[in-house]
Amino acid sequence: MNLVLLFEADFVQNDHVTLSGRRLRHVTEIHRAHVGDELTVGLLGGKIGKGTILRLDESALEMRVALDREPPPPLPITLVLALPRPKVLNRVIAGATSMGVERIFLINAWRVEKSYWKSPRLSEENLFEQRILGLEQARDTRLPPIELRRFFRPFVDDELPRLISGTRALLAHPGDAPVLSAQSEPVTLAIGPEGGFIEAELASLEKAGFAPVSLGPRILRVETAVAAAVAMLTR
Ligand code: SAH
Repeated sequence: MNLVLLFEADFVQNDHVTLSGRRLRHVTEIHRAHVGDELTVGLLGGKIGKGTILRLDESALEMRVALDREPPPPLPITLVLALPRPKVLNRVIAGATSMGVERIFLINAWRVEKSYWKSPRLSEENLFEQRILGLEQARDTRLPPIELRRFFRPFVDDELPRLISGTRALLAHPGDAPVLSAQSEPVTLAIGPEGGFIEAELASLEKAGFAPVSLGPRILRVETAVAAAVAMLTR
């Protein structure tokens, strides 16, 4: 936790917060902080700054906070990601959030197992928590929205055209497509499932306006592919 993320409900006064639970434990056990220490803090959806510890015991962490800086700018990248296996999902969501991806769509694809859609990890609560972890990691406060699309075809036919308008739509697929490079416009980036997109899906996405791109000669895991692609787009 490189930033203690604050919520409106934590404020007992204008510049005074009281925290308990996970954040209290983290500051006590990992930061091993003391009264008088300063921590980097940020308000969800707002500014970042410093928190000075006024009280720290087993029941509460009280800080006086001064929020005076903007968080890092979001990346103009919308991620369209075939729903990963539950074990991978948390890492991908926290990772993409920490890199500053602006918005995330989790979509179905032929090689997404149906059972993945029933995973408790897709609950609003868990998706929220993973993004919070990503923001705390990156010292950011902007929560990227996540939208779930259980059906590939209506998403591609009815929603994608509007979604990708004004953006460069790119489809990461291993093969001989040109290697992904930084773009001058916002990007919509599609990443496939572990087994890859099937030919019919590639054809639909290309018809919708996506250009295939390669991330290099090695086939990467989904979470690595997301990180590599975002890095290649932003360097
Ligand atoms: N088994 C699949 C690979 C899937 S990898 C196949 O052989 O095609 C999971 C996803 O990560 C892919 O759908 C793609 O979006 C992305 N990916 C991984 N490595 C990549 C690479 N070298 N180039 C482009 N995309 C890649």
